[in-house]
Amino acid sequence: MNIDRFSGRRLGAFPAVALALAATLAAGLWLCPTSEAAMNDKQAFVEGDCGWVGQGPLKAVPDLDARVAAFVPTTLDPSIAHLDAGEQAVLAKLVEVARIMDGLFTLQATPCHDELAARIADLPEGNREAARRYLAINRGPWDRRFELTPFFGSWEHPAGANFYPRDLTADEKAFIQDPGNGMNTEFTVVRRDAAGKLVAVPYSQYYGAALQQAATLMREAAALTKNASLKAFLASRADAFLTDDYYASDMLWMDLDSAVEITVGPYETYEDGLFGYKASFEAFVTVTDPVESQRLAKFKHELPWLESQLPIAEADKNPNRGSDSPICVVDEAYSAGDTRAGVQTIAFNLPNDERVREAKGSKKVMLRNVMNAKFDQILVPIAKVVVADDQLADLTAESFFLHTLWHEMSHGLGPGKIVKDGRETEVRLELKDTFSTLEEAKADAMGEWDIFVLARAGKGGFPEAIFRQQSATYLAGIFRSVRFGIGEAHGKANAIQYNYLVEKGAIKYDAATGRFRMDVPVFETAIAGLVHDICSIQARGDYEGSKAFIAKYGVTTPELDGALAKLGHIPVDIAPVFPRWDR
Ligand SMILES: [Zn+2]
Repeated sequence: MNIDRFSGRRLGAFPAVALALAATLAAGLWLCPTSEAAMNDKQAFVEGDCGWVGQGPLKAVPDLDARVAAFVPTTLDPSIAHLDAGEQAVLAKLVEVARIMDGLFTLQATPCHDELAARIADLPEGNREAARRYLAINRGPWDRRFELTPFFGSWEHPAGANFYPRDLTADEKAFIQDPGNGMNTEFTVVRRDAAGKLVAVPYSQYYGAALQQAATLMREAAALTKNASLKAFLASRADAFLTDDYYASDMLWMDLDSAVEITVGPYETYEDGLFGYKASFEAFVTVTDPVESQRLAKFKHELPWLESQLPIAEADKNPNRGSDSPICVVDEAYSAGDTRAGVQTIAFNLPNDERVREAKGSKKVMLRNVMNAKFDQILVPIAKVVVADDQLADLTAESFFLHTLWHEMSHGLGPGKIVKDGRETEVRLELKDTFSTLEEAKADAMGEWDIFVLARAGKGGFPEAIFRQQSATYLAGIFRSVRFGIGEAHGKANAIQYNYLVEKGAIKYDAATGRFRMDVPVFETAIAGLVHDICSIQARGDYEGSKAFIAKYGVTTPELDGALAKLGHIPVDIAPVFPRWDR
């Protein structure tokens, strides 16, 4: 799961791939290994042909330049001076592994990627450079920001990406969904054999050559590192690439305590828009911030106390909630694959394997330098347009970070398992399709509430200005997130907060200046009210109540729309550039 894509996944904005990098890597560096693997495979399967890509002159969307400009190239280059030569060598190996994941993800995302990329030559010359860059950002000719509609050509995006044949019949789709047929597994690609029958090919076979190479690099890195936890994880993950069994290495990943780390493998299943079965390759290569991680470890111990302080009925509190999951603060040294396409992740929560989650919880990883980049490149410019002049000085990157952190922590507070009509159940099951939106609004609101309550109790070591700083930064953050669209859980959750706080008099609009202001004392009271109202709906498992609450508050208003309309020139997300590694 990540943020800025956080549903299981990410809190953030929109996808971006470093412009320089993407073209090269996305361009089928790994097509060779894959087709080689295919040829070596005894269980014959055939690739669909690429005739559908066609030929002849093409057109691009008229606003292509603006779409590219929405992703502002941003350098991410954390200091590695404190790493010794051995650790720096490990880092370089891990970046090589990540590059392989990048090529694999491109293969997974887009059938006939290279043939499609070659069609850029059929665009008018003035469009070609922008198309090349945008193809790299999106990993194909389909715009991730606009529901995967093509930005050049007119090919329809295959919902199953390149995980399945493009021409599945209704019967075949039913066959794939039947668990008895072994097609609905995470780590297999579905193809046809020579007779046209569907076969599930394990990743370790289908991407065999590339994964072999990744495993070799992982073992070389394991030999170089002096950190025992990293050594164990790298060796185990190398095995997993070749066996498709990630459980043991997922367990070891939870225990990492190294200055240099990698989160790597097939994790999320969002790219499989057909069934959500197939996992996409990605990698985060990170440099740990031990001082910050230590500070957060202390926060974690406040969770039971915060639960006891929640502004809800005693009976609705959940003293057993709040697992002992680790939290880390890291800087991103390199990112690749799924996470690099589209919106850039600012925090993630892995692994997804429920067996690991039960045994060890999950690890929350905060990507501090990515957050700071979005603060500078997006949040501050937005605030300069919509936040009252005298509150601009209160914007801080630290407040943006704290909000993201406590948003994550708050997913572990409040009603989870509940009793409804005498039966044991879960909030998630009772609130059904409304759950995500309400839960995201809860995590945002409670995240601020947590900080205020800690500050009032003299905990957390916050400065006195924290109330003003959180208020101003949070206000700007609402506009940043609503831009993702209220059709999606995070966007709608932010509209809920906006309208609720306007109703309570915390957010005030000045028609004369067209700007918004947060009334700090009113905000502190109102946000507790919002936490109360949402948690009460959750504690009751009240589906109708949840629907009504979302229908009332999760809407746009003329003032909100007017503000969003003024933000068109501000980037939607960053396109990371890693000067040390991009080539
Ligand atoms: Zn969330």
